[in-house]
Amino acid sequence: MGHEGEKSRAMSATHIMANGTLVPGGSVPSVIPDGAVAWQGDRILEIGESSAVKDRFPEARILDAGGGLILPGLINTHHHFYSAMARGLDPGTPMTTFPEVLDRLWWRLDRALDPETIRTSALLSAADCIRWGCTTVFDHHASPGCIEGSLDLIAEALGAAGISGALCYEVTDRNGHDGALAGIEENLRFFRERRNDPRIRGVFGIHASFTVLDETLGHIADRRPKEAGCHIHLAEDPVDAEASVAAFGVDPLVRLEQAGLLDERALLAHGIHLTESDLRTVARTGAALIHNPESNANNGVGRLDVPRVSALGCRVGLGTDGMSSAMLRALRFAFLNLRGAEKDPTAGFEVLPSLLGENSAVARTFFEEPLLGELAPGAPADLIAVDSPPPTPIEEDNLLGHMVYGAAEAPVRHTVARGRVLLEEFEHTTLDPTQLAEEARSLAPGLWQRFHSLDWGTAYLGTEAR
Ligand SMILES: [Zn+2]
Repeated sequence: MGHEGEKSRAMSATHIMANGTLVPGGSVPSVIPDGAVAWQGDRILEIGESSAVKDRFPEARILDAGGGLILPGLINTHHHFYSAMARGLDPGTPMTTFPEVLDRLWWRLDRALDPETIRTSALLSAADCIRWGCTTVFDHHASPGCIEGSLDLIAEALGAAGISGALCYEVTDRNGHDGALAGIEENLRFFRERRNDPRIRGVFGIHASFTVLDETLGHIADRRPKEAGCHIHLAEDPVDAEASVAAFGVDPLVRLEQAGLLDERALLAHGIHLTESDLRTVARTGAALIHNPESNANNGVGRLDVPRVSALGCRVGLGTDGMSSAMLRALRFAFLNLRGAEKDPTAGFEVLPSLLGENSAVARTFFEEPLLGELAPGAPADLIAVDSPPPTPIEEDNLLGHMVYGAAEAPVRHTVARGRVLLEEFEHTTLDPTQLAEEARSLAPGLWQRFHSLDWGTAYLGTEAR
């Protein structure tokens, strides 16, 4: 039998992840103490007690979870792969406000990107996603010097890595209106081409209200298919509202609503500085706020009051905003940060468990997979084993405690995405992070040199408003 035959036979073989505490996810929390998941191809066949699952599929290849937690593959609803090569970069000028952080760091870095650094940044980030058990990621990309085809470079990287992605290009007028129009075309082209792709989907991306002209929003309103949704930064810092009002006379949320962008496919990253009336609008339209607690702390922009916005009826998901790719650690940070801010050692258990569930809901919509984010028969075979054997009883009602005090600090032993083992016994099978870091180090001096040759103080909408 030839190589192809062997490959298809391997794909159709049944696999079982066993010897772990199984937490299947799903709307009703449950725990199976000695649990197992069987899958074939890209679908889960069965979940249950280890002995029963093994009896049912005696020929299956066993992946031993080492007594740790078996969880659904994690989902990240706001990431920026392109930031991967900013680590250690000195902008060479102080950044004292959030607009300065954008203008002097990120908006220079994105202009310095070329195809090679876009590709390498995506691979570095994808390797980290695999390492921390994330199998589905929503990326928000910008590379003004290389717009057309940039999403294909990222899609190819994710294909090589083996994880799923919902990709978009950040439309903005801050590099001129032609750049905004090119961003619109890139989003539309990519959305069309990936419409039926099971692993990679397009979303319509926009940078933020304060950097898009009314004319650009008008084009988006005319041309964006509703199903493409919208992934945008909103009210991360007061500059969004101040600059939008100064330049366009209305609040960001009003602009988005007027452009028809607010519905259950809208992903609104941050939302920290929205008013109560704005939050009621978000809740009414079914749009999701994406909480990025580590990034918000890093930038000193304030924090989303998750209990408050949840009480107002807003959906809230969780992202990392380019800070890292470790979703359980982001959950832990959200938990500790909430307690620290509220000065309340009882806070967190009411609303934080729903953050990961909301990420599943978002991913289900965009990938048209009603069971994504859950371990159940017929669901995509996206699952992980986290190396945190529970040292105390683990039950439905103390799961969050086991996540934030245990799993969030533990390495991931196995990562499986659509049935393919991407991390096995802590080792990558598709990417080589050491080699990737080496490649990145050879590209970083050139990227940083281009960065330092670029000016800041770029005229962007809202500069005058500050
Ligand atoms: Zn972001």
